[in-house]
Amino acid sequence: MKGQSIPFNSPHLTGNEFAYVAELASTRKLAGDGQFTKWCSDWIERRTGCARALLTHSCTAALEMAALLLDIQPGDEIIMPSYTFVSTANAFVLRGGVPVFVDIREDTLNLDERLIEAAITPRTRAIVPVHYAGVSCEMDAINEIALRHGLKVVEDAAQGVMSRYRGRALGALGDLGAFSFHETKNVISGEGGALLVNDPALVLRAEIIREKGTDRSRFFRGEIDKYTWQEVGSSYLPSELIAAFLRAQLEHAEALTANRMTSWNHYHDCFAGLEAQGLLRRPIIPVHCDHNAHMYYVLLADGIDRQCVLDGLKAAGVSSVFHYVPLHASPGGKRYGKAQGALEVTVRQAERLVRLPLWVGMDAEHPAQIAHTMARVLNAARR
Ligand SMILES: *Cc1c(COP(=O)(O)O)cnc(C)c1O
Repeated sequence: MKGQSIPFNSPHLTGNEFAYVAELASTRKLAGDGQFTKWCSDWIERRTGCARALLTHSCTAALEMAALLLDIQPGDEIIMPSYTFVSTANAFVLRGGVPVFVDIREDTLNLDERLIEAAITPRTRAIVPVHYAGVSCEMDAINEIALRHGLKVVEDAAQGVMSRYRGRALGALGDLGAFSFHETKNVISGEGGALLVNDPALVLRAEIIREKGTDRSRFFRGEIDKYTWQEVGSSYLPSELIAAFLRAQLEHAEALTANRMTSWNHYHDCFAGLEAQGLLRRPIIPVHCDHNAHMYYVLLADGIDRQCVLDGLKAAGVSSVFHYVPLHASPGGKRYGKAQGALEVTVRQAERLVRLPLWVGMDAEHPAQIAHTMARVLNAARR
C-alpha cells in the first residue's frame, strides 16, 4: 500500500490561525497577556466554569505551576497513576515531591479510585487523576476522598479538553486542572496549555507564579502602581503569537470534536466483530462520561504478539503506536517515585494496548480499512 499510508496524527488547521497571527502586525503586541490571550482565557472560563484560566506554554508548565501553587516540599507524596505521560510525575519531582503510583481501572485505564485510600500516608499532599483518552476519572469519589483527608486534587486534563463528567467540564472538577494544546491533542497551538484554577483562593498566587514570581498581572490591571518580586515563580506564559493561533482553534472546538467523534464511532463499529471473536477489547466509556474522541485504542487479547501487530500494521501502511511504558517501570520512576503494590492492571493493559490513527479530516473509509487490515494482521500474530 505504498503512497496510501495512513499517518498516526496530522495536525488540522481550521482556517483563521495565520490570519489572527497576521493581525499582530498592526497591534505590535507580541509578548504574553494581550487581547488574544484574554480571548482564549475567557473562552476556557466560560466553557468550563473554572474560576480562572491561565494560558501556559504547555500542559507540562501548567502542572509545574500546580506543584508550586500547592507548595510541594521535598518528601511530600503525590498519588497518581503510573500509566501516564512523564510530565504528570516530573512536575512534582522538580519540587522534591515523591510520586506514589497507584494502579488503574481495568475498564477506563484511569486511576482506580478504590485503591487511593490505601496509598495515603501522613506525607500525602495531593491526588493527580489523569483523564486517559479524554474519558473522565471517577471524580466524585476522588474529590470526596481528598476532602476527607485534606488533600488537593490536580486534574491532568491534557487529553480532556471538551470532555465532561456528569455534565461538568474536565479540568474544572478538582482544585486545579491542566490542559494541553500540543499538536497531538484535540485543540492545538503547536505547543501550548492552560492552568485552570478552580479554587478562587489560589488565583492571585497562580498569576504571580506565572509572571516570574511578580505581581505584574495586578499592575497591568491598575490595582497597584509598581510590580515587585513576591515569591518563587517562573515564566509560564505563552506569547500572543501562540494565543492568536489558539483562538482560531477554540472557535472551532466543537466541530473539531465532532469530526473526531465520527471517526471514533466508525472505529468502534468496525472493531465490534473482532471484539466478539475475542481477539481484542474496545474502549469502554462509562455512561456518565461524555468523551472528546481524543484517542482510539484497542487492547489485544492474551496470546497475541503486540510487536507483530504493530509491525504488520506498519507494513500495510498504518501508523500505530503503543502507549505508555508505565512510569514505575522506567528508570526515572524507579529513582524518584514509588509503586503502591504490583500495579498488575497497569502492567497488563500497558502491554496489550495499541493506539490507532485518529485525526481531524481523516477519510471516512480509514477506520474500516484499518479494521480490515487489523483482522488480517491479528491472525498472523497469534502466538
Ligand atoms: C500530552 C500530555 C501531557 C503533556 O502536555 P504538553 O502540553 O506536551 O506539556 C501531560 N499529561 C498527559 C496525560 C498528556 O497526554
